[in-house]
Amino acid sequence: MAYDPALDMAPELLARAARAAGAGPDLAQGGGGNVSVKTGAERMLVKASGSRLGDLTPARGWALVNYGNIKRRIAAGPGGDAEFSDYIVSQALPVKGMPPARPSIETGFHSLLNTVVIHTHSVYANVLNMSEEGHKLGRELFPNAEFIPYKAPGAQLCAAISERALPAGPQVFFLANHGLVAAHAGVEGALELNAGVNEKIKSGLGLPPFRPAGGDSGLSPANAALLARYGKAFLLSKVLSPDQALYCGPEALDGRCGEAENEVLAALFYILGCIEGLGLTPRFLTGQETAYFESMKGGRYSRK
Ligand SMILES: [Zn+2]
Repeated sequence: MAYDPALDMAPELLARAARAAGAGPDLAQGGGGNVSVKTGAERMLVKASGSRLGDLTPARGWALVNYGNIKRRIAAGPGGDAEFSDYIVSQALPVKGMPPARPSIETGFHSLLNTVVIHTHSVYANVLNMSEEGHKLGRELFPNAEFIPYKAPGAQLCAAISERALPAGPQVFFLANHGLVAAHAGVEGALELNAGVNEKIKSGLGLPPFRPAGGDSGLSPANAALLARYGKAFLLSKVLSPDQALYCGPEALDGRCGEAENEVLAALFYILGCIEGLGLTPRFLTGQETAYFESMKGGRYSRK
């Protein structure tokens, strides 16, 4: 029988977590970031692939999966990326009154953690995640957090998180060149944990306020000015994150872009500016790491 969202609080809780986590482009840009709520030993509601956190409601923008199976699959060795992604999609369950939705590619690591998981591409956490010295500084600020070296989103990242994942208790992960994960037993706890980490980084490093770029069609004036300063060649050859690889190609930098591309660019410029301001060294992806995304574009992983 299909899951009936009207008979459960979980869709409301998921939407509350998504709204709070996706409230600003400093935490989620474009379709980046995702949230999940587990309802028992096997079922989990998770953001659908391709939708924005801020657009998730109790009635749309999420998928129901059997996370118990996904967890067992990861424990047995997730396999290759294509295979693992197909497996996650195969674990989607029908929901009454909702069209079939594809679970986010990041469903794998959500399956491994506590009841509520909030994953964002926080610009504050990414100052630490995208600099050579950042994880060392992060360990001083957050001695109990886990710091994961860069892994491509998908099977490899899941396997790395699996080694450190706790099924209970609060847990924070810093993912190099990617983002932040906060897991807790309930929505309020997870949101507080997530907000607390961001506040501590801002005050601990003395980061300047983040200014949203705006811009629905074409590059926003702020992004155009910063692009002129860094140069297109720099942005195309020096890649800090999967989001940059997927959103900030030559077309976007030529101005054929919308809100999502402007958000990703503004986040990048903020992170680069903070890294520079703190005297840190940006940690760009290697050629091999960025080549991976060429195969993802327009394919099954496109823009999460
Ligand atoms: Zn992510």
